[in-house]
Amino acid sequence: MSRVLLTGGTGYIGSHTAVSLLENGHDVVVIDNLVNSREDSIRAVEKLMNAKIPLYIGDLRDEELLERIFRENEIDAVIHFAGLKAVSESVYKPLEYYQNNLDSTLVLIREMLKNGVTRLVFSSSATVYDPANDPERVEGMPTGNCTCPYGWSKFMIEQIIRDCCHAYPQLSAIMLRYFNPVGAHPSGVIGENPQGIPNNLMPYIQQVAVGKLDHLNIFGNDYETKDGTCVRDYIHVCDLADAHVKAFDYLLKNDSCCLEINIGSGHGVSVMELVTAFEKANDMKLPYQFAPRRAGDLPIFFANADRARELLGFETHRSVEDMCRDAFNYQQKAQKQ
Ligand code: NAD
Ligand code: UDP
Repeated sequence: MSRVLLTGGTGYIGSHTAVSLLENGHDVVVIDNLVNSREDSIRAVEKLMNAKIPLYIGDLRDEELLERIFRENEIDAVIHFAGLKAVSESVYKPLEYYQNNLDSTLVLIREMLKNGVTRLVFSSSATVYDPANDPERVEGMPTGNCTCPYGWSKFMIEQIIRDCCHAYPQLSAIMLRYFNPVGAHPSGVIGENPQGIPNNLMPYIQQVAVGKLDHLNIFGNDYETKDGTCVRDYIHVCDLADAHVKAFDYLLKNDSCCLEINIGSGHGVSVMELVTAFEKANDMKLPYQFAPRRAGDLPIFFANADRARELLGFETHRSVEDMCRDAFNYQQKAQKQ
């Protein structure tokens, strides 16, 4: 049995990854400062999986706390989710974003090396790709020209990790470039429920579906796409969670690697298609109207998923309908609490 430290493990993707790791026979330990999550999520995972999860509530930049975690737990790898992630907020709070996301990574890697922990999986993002690329994103394509400090923080952290892998060959790292994670665990006990009005499409749809918001605004219907609305690569969060288990397994078998790997379905889905799938999966009508384009949106991008399949043996299994059904189920449960 192996033990994995999840930084930011009470968050949306971290909590789902905790489930996948436990399902695959691994133990997990969590550190989170609860800046964008609640302790409840990890308690829900404990209940769901009948497991005990040590949770350290504190900041990743706290070196003493990290020392303590590494001393008290024999850690085989770290999956580094912790970070601030709101694209628009990062534009007016760049210092907070760079300070939090970069400093926490620097402290983490330093403490890992000091404590002989040499395997790292990092939550990167499709946003690191230069927007000028072809819509099908392949790992070797140029990165940069990011549109916000959040994107640049991911770009910079990737470079920091590559530099560290080069300087400290004992370190192995996989940077997972997520596309658009959506949905929730089918139990409905964990999921994504942002505070305030959601910026992202699926959380917004979820809130319209339960009547918390009265209609969806579809930003732009005059793009050069199949139906005029933007196309993205949505991935069920449970599939994404499974990708982390595969990445961890890969690191257990391969020393001294430093890889960037796209994690998406490999297929583009338009906003209109997602709305229709949501209506079908949940047998309901979603009120929507077309609104002007949102500044900065690209018409189309989706993952080339070959590297994930070839290196990690990872493929997605859940459909767009599964994403929509599980997202709605979670939102209904969250609404009642
Ligand atoms: P989330 O906000 O739900 O989880 C991140 C967690 O990190 C939160 O629980 C937060 O409290 C914690 N955190 C932040 N700064 C911390 C610090 N200094 N010390 C300790 N804990 C800290 O976000 P998520 O959607 O689960 O995303 C996880 C990771 O994946 C993030 O790094 C995010 O940038 C990345 N990512 C997310 C998406 C997405 O659409 N959700 C897409 C691409 C990449
Ligand atoms: N979108 C929309 N209405 C919303 C939120 C998003 O039409 O209320 C569109 C958005 O313009 C984009 C797609 O949905 O084309 C996905 O947006 P999201 O913010 O979820 O992901 P990202 O654009 O960051 O990939």
